Amino acid sequence: MMKIGMRWTKSLPLASRLFFSHLVVMLVGVVSLVIISKISSPRLFVLHLERLESQGFDLIDIRPELVTGFELAWRRSTVWSVLVGTTAAGGLSYWVSKRIMQRLTEMEQITQKFAAGEMNARLPSSDIPELNRLGVSFNRMAVSLEGVEARRRELIGDMTHELRTPLTVVRGYLEELADGEIEASPEIYRRLAKETKRLERLVNDLQELSKAEAGYLPINIQRVNLRPLLESLVEKFTDQLLEDGPVLQLECPSVLPPVMADIDRTEQVLVNLLGNAVRYTAKGSITLRAETEASKLWIAVVDTGIGIAPQNLPHVFERFWRADESRDRHSGGTGIGLTISRRLVELQGGQIQVESELGIGSTFRFFLPLA
Ligand code: ADP
Repeated sequence: MMKIGMRWTKSLPLASRLFFSHLVVMLVGVVSLVIISKISSPRLFVLHLERLESQGFDLIDIRPELVTGFELAWRRSTVWSVLVGTTAAGGLSYWVSKRIMQRLTEMEQITQKFAAGEMNARLPSSDIPELNRLGVSFNRMAVSLEGVEARRRELIGDMTHELRTPLTVVRGYLEELADGEIEASPEIYRRLAKETKRLERLVNDLQELSKAEAGYLPINIQRVNLRPLLESLVEKFTDQLLEDGPVLQLECPSVLPPVMADIDRTEQVLVNLLGNAVRYTAKGSITLRAETEASKLWIAVVDTGIGIAPQNLPHVFERFWRADESRDRHSGGTGIGLTISRRLVELQGGQIQVESELGIGSTFRFFLPLA
């Protein structure tokens, strides 16, 4: 019976449920009031009469009259108070349920609008604290989703722009070859291969970038000693340097305190920073330096390369940014590496900075928290 009742109320809309629950509470109150006063009031009245009689009042003749009068008065006032009470309580409960329901319906409509793509839809504040809190949380979520959406659109815009250039070059060559305007030669094929390689690198970088920006990159933070990694990177990059190119050196205390980091991600950041240093440094030195400061381990890549102009420094971590479009396109850079590096460092609880002087060299440094 109870179960059937519950199932029945569950199928009702919230407004009716609220209204009925108020009604039930009110009925229980009224019924218990009526029953208890019905039992106790006449008895108390009779006791009162007896006390008056014992004090010397002669009520013997009018006693039945008094009792009937009392009962009549009691019944009338009970009927009136039940009528007025139930009407007022019913009205009040209807008003409260309606007010809550209005807010909820409004919230539902706004969330539906948001889901349909109206990213600037926000819930208004409510005078019901719980609903207000719900509204505030929803609005916070909406702001963050709006940001993700804006970044996604921006990324697609930038990406199509970046992909278009090598595609146009490849199509141009292919059309000219097809029309017989140019002769097929190893040089042409090399250029075509270079552009497709560039496309490939761009697509790979973009995949990493979209994962990093959306926060889907798995980060496995552990207590690690970075010294072996720094040594192996210096060895690997030294092999890539030309005879008359810069020298690569490691400046690192023999015992490095452990840090809390993801070793693979840290390697990815360092490969990017060292790769850039090698790419933009013709002679002099590239130094990989590690030093501790308070609760941080700072790792710096210092080069004596071409440097970056002061007005360009604030942009180096922006995606697709390159100091000189044509030069870097030629060198094969995608302008995504530093954006990914910064995200990876931040995901590990660190920060990345750059200092540079045109023609003198650049220093990229980041810190990781000590374990
Ligand atoms: P890219 O793939 O083009 O190197 P990055 O995001 O790694 O992309 O770097 C962005 C730009 O910052 C580069 O194109 C270059 O202009 C500049 N840059 C990065 N590192 C250095 C450096 N060590 N020296 C001079 N310029 C640099």
